[in-house]
Amino acid sequence: MVRAGVVAVQGDVTEHAAAIRRAGEAHGEDVEVIEIRQSGRVPDCDVLLLPGGESTAISRLLAREGIDAEIREHVAAGKPVLATCAGLIVAARDANDERVDTLDLLDVTVDRNAFGRQVDSFEAPLDVTGFDEPFPAVFIRAPVIDEVGEGVEVLAEWDGRPVAVRDGPVVGTAFHPELTDDSRIHDLAFFEDLAVEA
Ligand code: GLN
Repeated sequence: MVRAGVVAVQGDVTEHAAAIRRAGEAHGEDVEVIEIRQSGRVPDCDVLLLPGGESTAISRLLAREGIDAEIREHVAAGKPVLATCAGLIVAARDANDERVDTLDLLDVTVDRNAFGRQVDSFEAPLDVTGFDEPFPAVFIRAPVIDEVGEGVEVLAEWDGRPVAVRDGPVVGTAFHPELTDDSRIHDLAFFEDLAVEA
């Protein structure tokens, strides 16, 4: 049984819940989804999802509810996190925007809405490290990853920019892996180690 916390203060929560259930099923793992709206729940979780939405609102609510410190502790304990789009912005070291209090879970800096200024939303076939087939990546007013720290592995690039990264237990994507039926990103973030053990 994997207890998956989906940070549910704002953003696309149901889609992530469905995606992690699907990924778990593929590995024969039952997944219990816990929606995180206040402090005290994160310590019960084995893995965490930080969904897309609006990063300014998400960061404000995480701080107000005292969930921010719990998420940092989760990562300090080496437990996995998948942070997507606005979630990636919140998880970054710096978002170049004073309205977003970043959690510094991932050693990257991001520029909010940078892809969005060119084109609001698009889907692209992405080559992701370790995947046999391209991943259908949906970008919606997506951030651009600017600087990538030394310990950060770039898992995918689009247009010459990193769009999927891994920093220890934390995987971040500029796109929305929960919006297609393809659960390989959730798989990579949460179940890859299980596959190796099996
Ligand atoms: N542009 C949004 C932000 O800055 C993120 C968009 C998304 O999550 N789809 O928070």
